[in-house]
Amino acid sequence: MDFQNNWFNIIRNCSFDNTYKMAWSKAITELALEFDFENNENEIVPITLEAIAQKVVRYYWDQTIFFDLRQGSNPTKPPEIVSKTKKLIEVYQAATGNKKPIKFIKADVEDICSNDYLRTIKSIVSTLKQDVSYRFLNLAGKQIQGIYEYQLKDNVLYMPKENLFKLKENYAMMVEAINYRWSQILENFNHSPRICKKVRVIDEENIRRKPLKGFSKYLTHENPGQVCFICEKVISGETPALDHVLPWSYLYSDDLWNLVYAHQSCNSTKSNVIPNEEMIHRLEQRNVKLLQILEKQNIQDKHVSELRLATEIDLVKKFWIACQG
Ligand SMILES: [Zn+2]
Repeated sequence: MDFQNNWFNIIRNCSFDNTYKMAWSKAITELALEFDFENNENEIVPITLEAIAQKVVRYYWDQTIFFDLRQGSNPTKPPEIVSKTKKLIEVYQAATGNKKPIKFIKADVEDICSNDYLRTIKSIVSTLKQDVSYRFLNLAGKQIQGIYEYQLKDNVLYMPKENLFKLKENYAMMVEAINYRWSQILENFNHSPRICKKVRVIDEENIRRKPLKGFSKYLTHENPGQVCFICEKVISGETPALDHVLPWSYLYSDDLWNLVYAHQSCNSTKSNVIPNEEMIHRLEQRNVKLLQILEKQNIQDKHVSELRLATEIDLVKKFWIACQG
């Protein structure tokens, strides 16, 4: 079988323990895309584990900081590389004093926490070496030949240039296949909706959070006095924030049935916290009341229909139970 078939076979059939092989193959594919084919005479190209680690940390950073996706089957002990990346995120957020999710490539991590970054890369290299480098080539008890050469415990792997060229040539398809498999694996550990979309969106330059202003005109009908949903005090002297009761990072969606007014400060302190039962109960009551008011005023559109559906099928409760996973 040729390289491409073997490569796809590995991706399609890799085990469901964690997502390392996905990160590994995606990094190699990206390195192939960046490789300077014109100015390189060698038929065999060395790829350092460090270069792979620099990409791997980025994938886990983005999937964690935005969506907090679990990457392994054990909820109390995430895969090592994920724990290391989480630590780096903590250091970064402490250093910048900002907990707002930011994409790795925009975060300047290498400058802002250079020592921790270098330490993280080094330690990811050692995990890759131990757990991924040679295991990647194992499939159904056999070692697949012709992908790359790797000496056990080495910091470099050697890949035929023609293989890299095939990855480059078919880059979009390769990344699509990897993302698809990655999403499938994540569905085993995560109950959050839209996993495929979350994995794919990480590749886009901006993770777009749409402006929420448009929802105010609905909320005002039920909450004209602008009472904060979180602390239940009146919001005055500031524009109310529109708060996602079930975290945005979980739903990756803006829905009328999940949006409420909150103080800017109440909103920013809670961000990704899963609401308690009392809040869920209040949200359900709010939704029933809001729907009644909007129907009475004969307001009919997509958002109102979705609100109606949400109350009919207990969507809030269902997602709340699911997101406690
Ligand atoms: Zn408040």
